[in-house]
Amino acid sequence: MYTSIFGEVDEGIGMQEQLNLAPFGYLVMDKKWGILVMNQTLLEWIGIENAPAHMHDLLTIPSRIYFQTYFSPSIKMHGKINEMYLTLKTKREKIPVLMNTVERNERYECVFVQMKVRDEYENELLLAKRNAERVLQDTDKAYIKLQGLMKEVEGKQQELLELNTQLKELATTDPLTGLKNRRCLQEKILENIEVSKKDQSPFSLLLIDVDFFKRVNDTLGHPIGDAVLQELSKKLLLETREQDLVARMGGEEFMIVLPNTNKEHALVIAERIRLHIDMGSWKHARITVSIGITTYEPDDNLSKLFSKADEALYQSKKSGRNCVSVS
Ligand code: GH3
Ligand code: MG
Ligand code: MG
Repeated sequence: MYTSIFGEVDEGIGMQEQLNLAPFGYLVMDKKWGILVMNQTLLEWIGIENAPAHMHDLLTIPSRIYFQTYFSPSIKMHGKINEMYLTLKTKREKIPVLMNTVERNERYECVFVQMKVRDEYENELLLAKRNAERVLQDTDKAYIKLQGLMKEVEGKQQELLELNTQLKELATTDPLTGLKNRRCLQEKILENIEVSKKDQSPFSLLLIDVDFFKRVNDTLGHPIGDAVLQELSKKLLLETREQDLVARMGGEEFMIVLPNTNKEHALVIAERIRLHIDMGSWKHARITVSIGITTYEPDDNLSKLFSKADEALYQSKKSGRNCVSVS
């Protein structure tokens, strides 16, 4: 027998020694929370040699507040406390513990089990959960942003399409008259050549040149000359069918493509145009035009067609202007 902090100890049995070194903290308090007994394990955890005087000295400040507000009413009501979560103050680190207490013989007997591993594990879990939530939020935000961007791209694509249409229009239009330009005219003639080759249908071209246009400019000025060319363009559009193409070749020269039109029919159309210009009313200056007609024949190509139309036009000029000739 010997006397330890636990009272009288029977060496033979060794129970008190077992309690002293057991893998849990063991502590006995009086009712004013003064510490009466503390086992070796708890002393070692905290890193001290002797037990402190009061329970308060064992706890971190938050745990002390929790202990004060929770311990007294609970122990009075139940005579015991199960799994009270506390943090012990130590020299090196704080140790989270679960404390069980029972009231016995006017004393409180407490057992502490370390929660370090579980605490760290739970903290990690919590962190992982927060990270997952943040990732989810970020994903949501990114998705909304992506949707916005996709809408923007759609809008830009639409703008681009419209711009392309406008550009195409600009690339094929003569700026002064709004008629199709020479490039577009050439494409249209090539198309007609292909069609004619396939189905043997005829097509004709009218080359139209304003007579003595230089005089208009010289007497009325270049801007009035421009206005006359614009007025002429409108008259040419009025005199043609939907399938025909009216183009400005350049200067005061125009060409009309007449699909599905043979020489005789082209002659009628050309004469009607010439007459309409000659007899029509004019805002700024009266003008007449000379016209050369050519009709597609097998083996004609673009330049052959142009030169044939030119020859016919030259014929009209030579014949005194304001007339129509056929190549
Ligand atoms: P012809 O009957 O032999 O065709 O005589 P013309 O005076 O019409 O022919 P010419 O080739 O001598 O002159 C064409 C004139 O057309 C000269 C040029 O200043 C004028 N012209 C060409 N393009 C434009 C234009 O865009 N605007 C204006 N106002 N005049 C133009
Ligand atoms: Mg002329
Ligand atoms: Mg000319």
